[in-house]
Amino acid sequence: MGRRDALLAIDQGTTSSRAIVFALDGTILALAREPLPQIYPAPGEVEHDPEAIWSGTLKVARAALAEAEAKGARVAAIGITNQRETALLWDRASGRPLGNAIVWQDRRTAQICARLKADGAEAMVAERTGLVLDPYFSATKFAWLLDRTEGARARAEAGELAAGTVDSFLVWRLTGGRRHVTDATNASRTSLYDIAANAWDSELARLFRVPAAVLPEVLDSAAFFGETQAEHFGRPLPILGVAGDQQAATIGEACIARGDVKATYGTGAFLVLNTGEEIVRSTRRLLSTIAWRLEGRTTYALEGSIFVAGAAIQWLRDELGALRDAAESEALAAGLASNAGVYLVPAFAGLGAPHWDPHARGTVVGLTRGSGRAALARAALEAVAYQSAELLAAMAADGVAPRSLRVDGGMVVNGWLCQFLADILAMPVERPAIVETTAFGAAALAGLEAGLFASLQDIAARWRLERRFAPGLDAAERERLLAGWSDAVARAKGR
Ligand code: ADP
Repeated sequence: MGRRDALLAIDQGTTSSRAIVFALDGTILALAREPLPQIYPAPGEVEHDPEAIWSGTLKVARAALAEAEAKGARVAAIGITNQRETALLWDRASGRPLGNAIVWQDRRTAQICARLKADGAEAMVAERTGLVLDPYFSATKFAWLLDRTEGARARAEAGELAAGTVDSFLVWRLTGGRRHVTDATNASRTSLYDIAANAWDSELARLFRVPAAVLPEVLDSAAFFGETQAEHFGRPLPILGVAGDQQAATIGEACIARGDVKATYGTGAFLVLNTGEEIVRSTRRLLSTIAWRLEGRTTYALEGSIFVAGAAIQWLRDELGALRDAAESEALAAGLASNAGVYLVPAFAGLGAPHWDPHARGTVVGLTRGSGRAALARAALEAVAYQSAELLAAMAADGVAPRSLRVDGGMVVNGWLCQFLADILAMPVERPAIVETTAFGAAALAGLEAGLFASLQDIAARWRLERRFAPGLDAAERERLLAGWSDAVARAKGR
């Protein structure tokens, strides 16, 4: 094989750091993965050790590069995609973090958010950022980190400290502290960024008590983020693409036109709908966010998430012992003629959009003496489809109705689930040949900046369909199932 151009994607996720080298046609040339330990200091709190994020990322990037180059690939550039919203604070002089990273799931700043809501700040935050006022986003996590260390605020004001999301921290480390930057998609998840003006907002900075001096410079998603120090990979490599994981997946799924929508079904599920150059303000409390910014032009998206998707399958396997492995859910579900009225609402952590009920809890309805583990497995898979239907209905109500859904993530190997999704959504569900869409999206952004791809259209042309699931359920049956789900949700809601 002759030497061929390739791109390295670094996918720094919540539970693992991965590196994948792609050929320009999307073929995977090398892949390395390293688990990332979770730290749970108290109920509702989740942290990561920044040094573990760094060492794991460096290790997998080196391994993937070495493997691909041994096969004759020539890596031209790096793209980074990352777990979003997770917040870090570090010392600019020493590069040392001030404490652990506060992970997106962490709820420790719920009180701060409640106080800001009581003060009436929510409407302004929603208007500027497109987000709800919630501990999920980075701003209150930055503030918490600054408050926790004696003297940190004064040092921050003096410009001695840097704050950032995971992408920003990795670029800082990879460039030997020469670059403190982020991209517009990551910035749009902090609650400090005005998504219409495309700039940090000083009023938001005051509200959340995060000094502007700690924030990174915001670049397009395809841009020169910096050059890695030679010591890391044996030679300097340019970092030319950065995007948050769900945005990268949206590019990887080639959802580049208004109305295109993708869903990633993993532990949780994330639906992202491209709304083009328009910021659609949701009436159903979906998030408005930046899909990407290229050459200074911003494409926006509506986003909805399902807190518990594959996690319900894990629950059936690990807590109930009802499944040998996740894959068994497929045959069990397919073995039943119907759900026989059994619904599982996996509101283990409350319900997200469009319900937003933090007090809802997991509920099973419709059990009879004959209901067994197959009924529960089927109900757990069906729940993913019903929640997707609710989110797509909310998107349609907000004015952008998609015609088909592109899917990826660990759950979509389950063909029964994909077919049921198509049936309940009453639209085709498309499963791509390359399921590593998140990493490919990051690589694609880097390839765009490197000039290896001509345009987003050129990237999208590399998307290949593996299988299309056509809807096949009659409308009356679909309505009956959705009504059964609504009834179950009503019972799961808190009071
Ligand atoms: P994440 O990136 O969120 O960690 P993945 O995309 O790797 O997750 O997907 C893993 C999830 O997919 C797990 O929750 C697992 O239970 C679920 N899963 C894996 N295989 C199947 C399957 N065949 N059917 C249903 N769910 C599955």
